[in-house]
Amino acid sequence: QFRLSQPTALSHKSSLARLLSTLALLEQREGKLNVSSLAAVTAAQKLGGSVTGFVAGSGVKAVADEAAKVKGIEKVIYVENGAYDKGLPENFAPLVVENIKKGGYTHVLAGHSAFGKNVMPRVAALLDSQQISDITNIEGEDTFVRPIYAGNAILTVQSTDNIKVVTVRGTAFPVGEQEGGSAEVVEGVDPKAECATEWISEDLAKSDRPDLATAGRVVSGGRGLKSKEEFDRLMPPLADALGAAIGASRAAVDSGFADNSLQVGQTGKNVAPQLYLCAGISGAIQHLAGMKDSKVIAAINKDPDAPIFQVADVGLVGDLFEKVPELTEKLKAQ
Ligand code: FAD
Repeated sequence: QFRLSQPTALSHKSSLARLLSTLALLEQREGKLNVSSLAAVTAAQKLGGSVTGFVAGSGVKAVADEAAKVKGIEKVIYVENGAYDKGLPENFAPLVVENIKKGGYTHVLAGHSAFGKNVMPRVAALLDSQQISDITNIEGEDTFVRPIYAGNAILTVQSTDNIKVVTVRGTAFPVGEQEGGSAEVVEGVDPKAECATEWISEDLAKSDRPDLATAGRVVSGGRGLKSKEEFDRLMPPLADALGAAIGASRAAVDSGFADNSLQVGQTGKNVAPQLYLCAGISGAIQHLAGMKDSKVIAAINKDPDAPIFQVADVGLVGDLFEKVPELTEKLKAQ
């Protein structure tokens, strides 16, 4: 455990004097609330104090109304302006900061998503705070836990900043009940900051399968699958039989077997499904960093000494080209 800095008596006193209140940034796409961004709300609730949701873009009143039903949110602030649709940090960060200043919040939280990683460092810089990234636990109003070195060490950081700027790891703060709340919905301030960046286009991978980051079941393939043809032949039927999302190791992605968006691990997605079933993955620490919090880990590998078996709850030593089709058939027959 490291303590980065000790709180001064002054900062402690001032934090006691101010009531703890958190602004949780919510994400939306085309007027629909991104449910996984509600992890910031779960974390805010753990902090204690009041929780205010924040959303901006075009047609976001409907998103704000949806968020108002989430249990634990007391207020939702929305800013209607198409300039915020894509979450460009150049204008989104000043927008967030204006609303923080108006509301006098002590904490601002967002998911450790592409959006959060884009916007929050600028929010922190504008507030002269040091961002605390990718937290997995909260020990107090100024003390947060975060993994470092691909999860091989756990750092406990204590912040003396006046306003804490924090991104949260979604898998560590499961989204709570989305019904039953009745938050007040109010319009926020819009500084209409200039944005030197222009949004050109996006190319999104489309899939009917569950979203990898939030799926309850994930089947993942590694370099052991040998080729893209074999990956495509074996993994989708297994995923379909389980109603699972498909993931891949970096070696599988780098070899062109699977799309980059499917990569699980330190430089890919963090997942923590009920079931993580992997085939032909050795279990390198960088891969484990993205999936070791899964509830049940099952692994198929022909090498009985593969490191994946050290974290697996269920292991099958064998040739995946036999075992995966066999398992798929058995699951389909159920
Ligand atoms: P390999 O290590 O080659 O393992 C293949 C496995 O398949 C072996 O265990 C083998 O026994 C088994 N196998 C082969 N044939 C069969 C068969 N017929 N039947 C059954 N089993 C078989 N990796 C990630 O996954 N995600 C990351 O985010 C990531 N980030 C990284 C970041 C950094 C900075 C670095 C340095 C590395 C990162 N890596 C990441 C790469 C990581 O170190 C490993 O190289 C990678 O995870 C290996 O992928 P793999 O297990 O598919 O391949």
